This record gives sequence, structure tokens and C-alpha cells, in this order.
Amino acid sequence: MKRKPKRIDKREYTLMIVPHHGQKVRSIRIPIIAVKYTVSLLCFIIVFMIGSFVEYRQTISVASTQKAELEILRQNNSDQVSQIEQLAKTTTSLQADMERLNSLDAEIRRIVNNEDVAVTSRAGLIRPSVSYNGQGGSQLQPNINSIMNLANDLQSAVIVREQSLAELKQELLAKKARMETTPSIWPTTGDVTSRFGWRNSPFGDGGDWHPGIDIANSSGTTIIATADGEVIQSGWYDGYGNMVQIDHGNGITTIYGHNSQNIVHSGQVVKKGQVIAYLGSTGYSTGPHLHYEIRVNGTAVNPTNFLN
Ligand SMILES: [Zn+2]
Repeated sequence: MKRKPKRIDKREYTLMIVPHHGQKVRSIRIPIIAVKYTVSLLCFIIVFMIGSFVEYRQTISVASTQKAELEILRQNNSDQVSQIEQLAKTTTSLQADMERLNSLDAEIRRIVNNEDVAVTSRAGLIRPSVSYNGQGGSQLQPNINSIMNLANDLQSAVIVREQSLAELKQELLAKKARMETTPSIWPTTGDVTSRFGWRNSPFGDGGDWHPGIDIANSSGTTIIATADGEVIQSGWYDGYGNMVQIDHGNGITTIYGHNSQNIVHSGQVVKKGQVIAYLGSTGYSTGPHLHYEIRVNGTAVNPTNFLN
């Protein structure tokens, strides 16, 4: 059986209203088409509202996420500003350290060379370039470029200072070597009984030229090398009796005469302060003493000029 749509459109819902107390029953007729349209409209409104609600929730969610991200960025930015401030303080402190190092370098140079500050120690000075005063606030934030400039300056200053200290080390080593090969200490203990130069002869035969100093003490008193060097003579030598001669380089030699016994041999390398002989009265001598002589390029010089 086939039904035509027009027949359905004409159908109606009948709404019966039954009052109390036997009054007349009333009926309201509503076309079914109107009911259908009303239901459809309500469904559309409900779907639309649900859709809008979902979209609203999504928008709120996205906004919330963005807000959280913004908060993280803000925090990161704040942390970085703190780190830059700390970096500026550290760099400024390093600058002060470097200035102290420069002063120390200059001071050591003055002590070593007994002269004015060398050019290299001045070259290490760095210009003050960070104006940050560490009081906080956006207006006072340190400029990252200033920090970078100062860091570069410090890097250059470190290289200059390193070169300067390396030179200083070489100078000190050379000076130390010169000191070790310079006869600057007493060769033995005792009393100086005869000085360098013209004197009355101890043998009562007029004046004579004394090329060294005599130090009197008991026989057997130790005699030491007065500087690093190489023994070039150890044995009997005329009026010197048992004698030791040491070559210290740079044309300087020392002679130790009248010894009771020599305990080093020719060719032996000796250190400053090393025992080389024992005091005695051998050779042309009137009593136990050491005849100590320093020669520079073969000429005897006054040993007291070398002694500390
Ligand atoms: Zn003498």
C-alpha cells in the first residue's frame, strides 16, 4: 500500500483539555507539520549549542596553554637577566684580579732587575669597560656587548701577562745561574789575618803584594767551594802547598791554598757550599790558615768585593 505525502501533512494532533466540576471539554488541534518543524528547530539549536560549547572549551584550553608558555618565557628571560648580571660581576671581579696581577708582575720586575717596569708589563693593562653598578632594575642591566668586550680584553691581557711572566722566569733562571756561579760566600770560618793588596810580609822581609785574603782557623776546618764550578787543579803548587783551583765560568776562578788535605780531583764538578778540602799550613805558611783568591780573566781581585 502506497501513501501520498499530502495525506500525512494534513494529519493533526488533538489536545484534549478536561476541566473539573463537569464543565465543557475543550480540544486544541495542532497540525503535525508544525510539531515536526518545532522538533527539528530544537534539535538544530541543541546541536549548535553543543558545537559552540566544544569550540569555546578548545579556545579556552589554547589560551591557557599560551598563557603558561608565556609565563615560562617570562621566567626564562628573568633567569637570563640574573645570569648576565652575575656574569658582569664576575667579569668585573676578573678585571680587578688582572690589575693586581699586572701590579705584581711590575713589582717583581723592579725587584729582579732593579729597574723601571718593562714595556710588556704595561701592555697588559685593560680599559674599564663595564659600567654596570649592580643595583638591579631594567635601566641598570649590564650590556652584553660591554661584557663581551671586557672578556676579549681580559683574554688579550692574559696572553700578554703570560708572555711577560715567561720572560721573567727566563731572567730569574739566568740570574739564579749567575748567582750560583758567582763566588759570593765565605770559603771557611775563622779570622781574617791578612787582607788583599800591599802588606808587610808575614816573613819579615819587607812589603809584598797579597793577591787574596788569609783566614786563620784550626787545622782540619772544612773548606767549601764558594760557587758552582769545575775543579781545574787539585794538588801541590809551590808556595800554595796543597791547592784547589775551581773554574766558575765567565772568566772567574777561585783558589784555596795551604790545605792539609784536598778531597776533590781535577775535572770534578762541584756545587756551591760543597766541602773540597781541609784547612792546614802546607806550602809557604806561618800557621794554619786558608789563602783564598778570586781571579777574573787571570787577574787576582779583592775577594771581599764578592762576599756577602
Ligand atoms: Zn795568603
